[in-house]
Amino acid sequence: VKQLIQSKKHPYPDWAEGGSVPYAALCKTFELIDGTRKRLEITAHTSKFLQQVIRLSPHELVTVVHLMLNKLAADYMGIELGIGESLIMKAISESTGRTMDKLKAMQAKIGDLGMIAYQSRNAQPTLIKMQPLTVERIFKGLYRVATTKGDGTMSLKVAEIKKLLAACQGEEAKFLVRGLEGKLRLGLADQTVLQAVAQAAITREMEAKGKTPKATDLVAAENMLKEVFSGLPSYEVIIPKIIEHGIMNLKEHCTMQPGVPLKPMLAKPAKSISEVLDRFDNLKFTCEFKYDGERAQIHYVSTKAGEKEKFAVPGKDTKKGGGLTAIFSRNSEDLSTKYPDILAVLNNWVSESTTSFILDCETTAFDKDTGKLLPFQTLMTRKRKDVAIEDVKIKVCVYAFDLLFLNGEALVHKSLTERREAMKAAFNEVEGQFGFARHADVDQVDEIQSFLEESVKGQCEGLMVKMLNGEASHYTPSKRSQNWLKIKKDYLAGAGDSLDLVVLGAYHGKGKRTSVYGAFLLACYNPTAEKYETICNIGTGFSDEVLASLHEQLEPFIIPKPKPFYSHSTVAKDQPDVWFEPRVVWEVLCADLTLSPRYKAAADNVADPTGKGVSLRFPRYIREREDKKPDAATTARQVAEMYRAQESVGGKGKGGVDDD
Ligand code: ATP
Repeated sequence: VKQLIQSKKHPYPDWAEGGSVPYAALCKTFELIDGTRKRLEITAHTSKFLQQVIRLSPHELVTVVHLMLNKLAADYMGIELGIGESLIMKAISESTGRTMDKLKAMQAKIGDLGMIAYQSRNAQPTLIKMQPLTVERIFKGLYRVATTKGDGTMSLKVAEIKKLLAACQGEEAKFLVRGLEGKLRLGLADQTVLQAVAQAAITREMEAKGKTPKATDLVAAENMLKEVFSGLPSYEVIIPKIIEHGIMNLKEHCTMQPGVPLKPMLAKPAKSISEVLDRFDNLKFTCEFKYDGERAQIHYVSTKAGEKEKFAVPGKDTKKGGGLTAIFSRNSEDLSTKYPDILAVLNNWVSESTTSFILDCETTAFDKDTGKLLPFQTLMTRKRKDVAIEDVKIKVCVYAFDLLFLNGEALVHKSLTERREAMKAAFNEVEGQFGFARHADVDQVDEIQSFLEESVKGQCEGLMVKMLNGEASHYTPSKRSQNWLKIKKDYLAGAGDSLDLVVLGAYHGKGKRTSVYGAFLLACYNPTAEKYETICNIGTGFSDEVLASLHEQLEPFIIPKPKPFYSHSTVAKDQPDVWFEPRVVWEVLCADLTLSPRYKAAADNVADPTGKGVSLRFPRYIREREDKKPDAATTARQVAEMYRAQESVGGKGKGGVDDD
């Protein structure tokens, strides 16, 4: 691997300095990555290619990195690929002249649409030599496909894909189509790309000075980028700063900024109060109500803010005079048009001296007449977009539990005690609009138990238990951390943790359920393999109305065959009647977890010699998780952790890996 990084030769076509990067060079790198499962080699191939990009076309590094991640912008911009199968098939048919019937027959045999596009494209005689594709051209085309709206959208999208396909050579069509589908399936994790960007940057900078980086230099560069990116997850902002100032000076030039959402810190489940006490072992901790609503990260810059707080947010218009207000979801989706009622009253609860902030909160449905909180299901009946304040029927109250940035300064490296004090000084509670999450800094089992009961009576899900002081209490974006534990009332009832699972298939109903689906096939997500791994069939917990509406909701996502990135038993009797595109996520409870040859969840992680996966016993539908995308579903690793934590398989119920 070291040799690979240091060798001057590279296998992809070279290009002119200052020119656009050939798409063929990126695809060659994809092929090399596709040819190995070794993480170090994948990083080395990525890093080597990126070095070449920094050397010859630094202005295109952002574009190349986005294409490697199969993204068109930072998450908060909400521009996504994931084009439906029928539309892609239509474009392949029209651009290669193969009939839909022929393509469907190929699909039944091969499955992978990328391969179908590649084979169909390469079987065509090439009469006119097309200009080689560049990454810039591909990026612009994909951007158009993803953002075209309004009348005739479908045919415009098909026309754009056709143009791109017609110019593809060799393997290009395969990766283009996989990208359009939303999954490149190269095993190129986001963290690997981040690591490779750091390696490429430091290598290039040191080579320019006639030096070769040592392993310690590579690690220092990776740590620097990881830290900066966790507070500012936007390559659009960070990469130009790397090129301008050098990677080791990044911290001085890039800090967290309102307008760019951070990936939130997440919690690990604890099954009992005694497990919490064991885990925190005499260290100071606090218990907070776990409100049952939607996570909301509120960003704010006042028009009175000082110079250092005035940021240009890429892709977003800030207000006249430099002000900004925005609300982001758990997935960094912009919820500002869902909650205009919150933004309208923000100034009531922001103190006079507060000029900018990033606040971590939960929005909770609230009954103004009784002053009581309402369940999550009520909140979910609100429209998701373009809400007019006068139409808002379900009122919400915001509960703040953490402050990440205040008046131009990041607070994530301060203790929770300090962050909480700063939060209480920067905001004022306003009944029915804004409050601080209720907390009790108690440490005796009976005190925690009664606080938990109080939280449940108050329509909360349970408690969040958090470390209060020292480094362990720092805010760690995007981590599912041992320093935040959640105790849900459901765990105490002995039902176990809930899982968020993706609906992949369904079975036609029988008896009085003949016109709807009677059961569904669910899967967890394995981000390393980029696969959905099946975990159970579920037919319990649905009312007749829910079943009827699910039938309608899922209809547009029907596909003729499972996607190649679905992992399920191949035995005929285990197959569902219909398959779906991976779009819908449900929260599910179960009695316990067991091994089964029918399902494939975490089969690699539990390393069962017979290839069995983990499956759920007695799964029960709780609700749809509209706020979670399919690749934010419970991971295969979490499933393996839950399986191992069961006493029946000899686990201790402790420890585990951070996998977010
Ligand atoms: P869950 O289904 O439990 O919400 P999750 O994966 O969305 O799972 P977790 O980290 O497991 O998130 O649980 C924390 C969630 O609980 C947060 O994302 C937030 O939405 C919510 N929450 C409510 N009250 C609090 C609080 N006081 N502190 C932190 N999170 C809270």
